Amino acid sequence: LLEMKNIKKEFNGQSVLKDISLQVKEGEIVSIIGPSGSGKSTLLRCATMLTDIDSGEISYMGKRSVWMENGKTVVPSGKQLKEIRSCFGLVFQNFNLFPHYSVIKNITDAPIHVQKRKKEEVYREARELLAKMGLSDKENAYPCQLSGGQCQRVAIARALALNPKILFFDEPTSALDPELTGEVLRVIRSLADLHITMVIVTHEMNFAKDISDRVIFMDQGVIAVEGTPQQVFSSENARMREFLGKFH
Ligand code: ATP
Ligand code: MG
Repeated sequence: LLEMKNIKKEFNGQSVLKDISLQVKEGEIVSIIGPSGSGKSTLLRCATMLTDIDSGEISYMGKRSVWMENGKTVVPSGKQLKEIRSCFGLVFQNFNLFPHYSVIKNITDAPIHVQKRKKEEVYREARELLAKMGLSDKENAYPCQLSGGQCQRVAIARALALNPKILFFDEPTSALDPELTGEVLRVIRSLADLHITMVIVTHEMNFAKDISDRVIFMDQGVIAVEGTPQQVFSSENARMREFLGKFH
């Protein structure tokens, strides 16, 4: 579903992603863990075309979505680009909801105005999503009237409303109080039960262990350890041991 090949990225001469290659298959749940500054967010931003890469190639569903030509990054144009963008959704740490839009408008705006889908159908699906998120009574509330956990569940509903093939999460619970973290993790778990393909950057080690088919440990811009949760969490890699030590 997603293939990233030999991705490199520098910021101001500092190498942040050093030749990263990564594949995600349909239905797979991949967690990315690693110390602060190891390049996890940058990797997601490159995958979702929010940041240019310096070299390498990215494909969705076997179609090239970012590649190099004459030393420059290229993306397809027009309709093809739109098609690729509709493959993925992204949920941020800080929700990024539109503050001046109600909950339902946050969810329905892009499907109606970007995807040009029928209003009635979009609203019906949005209400189904809100019900799934346990937020049916919040349809007309504004983000400032919601708790952080509720905001994050709206952000997840908004991403799902675009019917992405793969959903990326960048530390979806790290802005939340511990008592609100559980409700968001439960929602992500319920998506796993629906076999939605997900790539999750998280500091919730037990959650990563439980939910993932595969875990990637990033360190200083490289994938230092990769494998099943059992393999990765029992790895003898010194940096991995040091990193895990911080959670005990
Ligand atoms: P965290 O766990 O703290 O979120 P991370 O693994 O997500 O960390 P990144 O945000 O990917 O790390 O950052 C990796 C490195 O790249 C850091 O050293 C950061 O300072 C640098 N960096 C990221 N974005 C930019 C940018 N837009 N401009 C300059 N440097 C950047
Ligand atoms: Mg980050």
